[in-house]
Parts: sequence; structure tokens; C-alpha cells
Amino acid sequence: MTQKFDVVVIGAGPGGYVAAIKAAQLGLSTACIEKYTDKEGKLALGGTCLNVGCIPSKALLDSSWKFHEAQDGFAIHGIHHAGVTMDVPAMVGRKANIVKGLTSGVATLFKANGVTSLQGHGKLLAGKKVEITKPDGSVEIIEAENVILAPGSRPIDIPPAPVDQKVIVDSTGALEFQAVPKRLGVIGAGVIGLELGSVWSRLGSQVTVLEALDTFLLAADTAVSKEALKTLTKQGLDIKLGARVTGSKVNGEEVVVTYTDKDGEQTITFDKLIVAVGRRPVTTDLLSADCGVTLDERGYVHVDDHCATTVPGVYAIGDVVRGMMLAHKASEEGIMVVERIKGHKTQMNYDLIPSVIYTHPEIAWVGKNEQQLKAEGVEVNVGTFPFAASGRAMAANDTGGFVKVIADAKTDRVLGVHVIGPGAAELVQQGAIGMEFGTSAEDIGMMVFSHPTLSEALHEAALAVNGHAIHIANKKKR
Ligand code: FAD
Ligand code: AMP
Repeated sequence: MTQKFDVVVIGAGPGGYVAAIKAAQLGLSTACIEKYTDKEGKLALGGTCLNVGCIPSKALLDSSWKFHEAQDGFAIHGIHHAGVTMDVPAMVGRKANIVKGLTSGVATLFKANGVTSLQGHGKLLAGKKVEITKPDGSVEIIEAENVILAPGSRPIDIPPAPVDQKVIVDSTGALEFQAVPKRLGVIGAGVIGLELGSVWSRLGSQVTVLEALDTFLLAADTAVSKEALKTLTKQGLDIKLGARVTGSKVNGEEVVVTYTDKDGEQTITFDKLIVAVGRRPVTTDLLSADCGVTLDERGYVHVDDHCATTVPGVYAIGDVVRGMMLAHKASEEGIMVVERIKGHKTQMNYDLIPSVIYTHPEIAWVGKNEQQLKAEGVEVNVGTFPFAASGRAMAANDTGGFVKVIADAKTDRVLGVHVIGPGAAELVQQGAIGMEFGTSAEDIGMMVFSHPTLSEALHEAALAVNGHAIHIANKKKR
């Protein structure tokens, strides 16, 4: 007999697994289909995020930062020690253990909530039937009242630099180096390229980032991207803007990369090359020709503002649909869809999805940046507070960067919070909470902040919007 579920989810990344758990919590019979297996051949839930994305990259960022600090950051505190060394396989092994703990944690949550976990490749057929091709090649068809497509994304390949996962790697390969490459090339100065470039640079690689665009971190506030370029360059990342990679040739253990810049064609040789030019949606063998779900012109599953596809009862969430490719966006879309299946009117505020780049200094923002608001003709007041004036940042010897709060000049409503510096991701989240409730800069200014905290920098930046900062000289009120 064909099994039937209220909800069938295809893909167990942060979009799919969160949707499945929520659906089960709301009393819906739920199955989640996932095909990804780990190196031991075992089913591993959690998608890109847990297996080869957010979590493993942050594990390596944290390890490499500790090494960097141990090498260069302790003497100022009066701590002297000799001979710090890095055991790369141990670092990579620690990362693997964290991944294992989290992915098996998702399996435990599935059990605890009564989600049926099915291993195999899921494909949507007509009439909300789902075909599962299991690891042994056998095929099962199940039925669903509702189907949630959450198959995620994969790295984009570019013909000039074909990935072999040995010398030329994608983001997944870059998490597995067993030794520090002497000369490391990174194609793409996006979030992933900068984070992975930082990891290996801190461990001693000579890192060159080749970025086709002339502008650095286009999506960030200009003040933040300028500061980031300055600081990352000072740290040793050689970021070449306006450098478009046109070819590569692997010669044994090294790769010669050709790129063009304003001076013409250039070549450069690396021991490893990371291709980090973005990600694209995964829809391979996901949809039968007659299932009715359509893709947009860029290959994403076509959905409305509530993640409904063109077929009633079929939804798509996360990296496979329009919008930012972020784990928290995927998860919240999953929650929204499931609540809407239950008849709630849940909406998602796409205007307040925070972005974070986990370099050091950390970079994060929520809402609009100054150049966007200016282009829209919105008059704004801006308050900035440097961490150099923060007692907490000084105590931690981490004083680079600033908090920038942008408010509507007429209403004082906060329209954007942009941070580069220690604790940026957490500070921006505080801004996001306030903005969700329509906070004004004055509201934040009137709140009591613990002392000494990094959060005080947000407080002071909000005060500075209207010329009321205490711990810096206020710029003339605009
Ligand atoms: P995915 O996580 O990609 O999961 C989709 C799952 O579906 C996969 O497990 C896949 O095997 C499975 N699947 C696909 N097709 C089928 C099928 N037909 N049948 C069965 N299973 C299928 N985001 C952040 O928010 N913060 C970060 O710090 C961050 N860091 C990142 C670092 C790196 C190196 C990378 C690569 C990504 C990072 N991201 C980060 C992005 C984040 O990982 C993705 O946005 C997120 O994983 C998307 O979630 P998803 O559920 O849509 O898809
Ligand atoms: P993101 O999409 O944020 O991960 O960033 C990927 C970056 O890669 C973008 O800034 C692109 O401009 C850059 N990029 C894409 N193709 C090339 C190329 N051939 N050479 C150099 N940079 C590239």
C-alpha cells in the first residue's frame, strides 16, 4: 500500500529539516527525504549548512583565529610562549567531529518529533506523489497532501577553472586541506571566498583573491566595505579587484592561473586554488516533466512571497528559491510554509534578514545601506561609533571597525545597522530586533546598556544619529 503523509519534505538542510520538525510539532504526519552520505557512507542530515557550509567553515575560522592569536596576539597581554605549531589534520578532525555531532543531532530531533526519515533521492511526480530512489537502486512512491522542496544549492563551476578537488577545489574541498598550501588562490571575493581565504591565510598561506568586479563587497555599506578591504589587506590577503580569471592549467602539484585586469593578461601560480564564485540551485532530476512546478529564468524554483509554487500544495524554500542563500532564511521559510499549511497567516519579513561575514573583523548588517537609501532618495541621519572608543573592545585588544546606525531623517526610524568589528553578528541581531518593532534611533539611545559591553557601541552609534553620543565628539547634527 502506498504510504501517505500530510507533509513530505525533499532535502534535509536547514530549510528542509526545520520544516519537517515544525510540521511534526504541529501534528502533521511528516517524512523527510535526504540522499547525502558522509565519508563513511552513512546518511547525514543537515544539508550544506551542517556538513560542508556554515558550521565546518566556522569551526576552521575559530581554530585558525586561535592559532593566529596564539602566534601574534598574546604578547600584548604579557603572555609569552615559544613555538606555537598547527596540526592541520587535528584541526580538520575537530571540525569533522562538530559536524558529526550536529548532523546526528538532527537525526535525534527527527526521532524525538516523530519525523519519518527516508534515505534516497526524491523526485516530485504529478499529483503530489514523490518518487524515492533508494541507495540500493530500488524505487518507492509515496503520496503527500503537501510537498516542500528544499534541495538547496551547489557551488557554481566556471570553465576557466574546472574543479578536480585536488589542486583546484570548491568550498567543500577547501575545508579538507590536510596541510597549509604555501600559495593559495581564491577566485571570488564573496562571503565564502573571504572566509576560506582568511582561514588559510591565518595558518600561513600567501593568499591572493582574484575578483572580477572592481567594487569590493558590493552588498555592504560603502564605509564598511572600505574598512574591510583595508583591514583584510593589512592582514595579508592580496585582494585583486577587476581581475577576471580566464584560464588555468594544472601542472602536477601546482596550477597556473590566467586572469585579465586593467593592464591586460596576467599569470600567477598557486599550490591550491579555491573556486568560490557563487552557488546555484539544485534541481537535477527533482521535478517530473508533468509535475507542474516551474523554474524561473535563472533556474530557481518559481515561488510567490509565501514560497508557494505554481502547484497548490507544493512549496519550495531555501537556496533553491529566489533571495539570499542563507541558512536562517531557509529555516524561516520552512517555518512560514508549515504554519501556512496549518492555516496560519504567517509572513516573513524579507527586509530584515541579517547578513554576516565571519572574517576578523566580523562584518554584519541588516536593513538598507547608506548608498541604497541615497539612491532611493531617502534622507537619512547616520550615527557611527568606533570600537577604538569602546572600553570593552580595548580590554579585549580588538578595537578595529565601527557600528553605523542609519535612521530616517524625518521619522528617526532605524533603517539599517552596519557593523564591522568584534561581535558584529550579535550586535546586528540586536539592531534587527529593534527594527522588527519599528525602533527609532532615540528608542535605542534611551535604553540602558550593560557596561562594559560591545553593545554599548550600538547604543552610542544610535545616540550619535541625533548628535547625542557621549563617548565620541559628535559630528555636527545634519
Ligand atoms: P542545503 O543546505 O543545500 O540542503 C539541501 C539538502 O537537500 C542537501 O542535503 C541535499 O543533499 C539534499 N537534496 C538535494 N536534492 C535532493 C533530492 N532530490 N532528494 C533528496 N535530497 C536532496 N549560510 C549562513 O546563513 N551562514 C553562514 O555562515 C554560511 N556559511 C556558509 C559557508 C559555506 C562554505 C557554504 C558553502 C555555505 C554557507 N552558507 C551560510 C549558506 C548555507 O549553507 C545555505 O544557505 C543553506 O545550507 C541552505 O539551506 P537549504 O536547506 O536551502 O539547502
Ligand atoms: P558570491 O556570489 O558572493 O559568493 O561571490 C562570488 C564572486 O565571484 C562575485 O563577486 C563574482 O564577481 C566573482 N567571480 C565570478 N566569476 C569570476 C571570475 N571568472 N574571475 C574572478 N571573479 C569571479
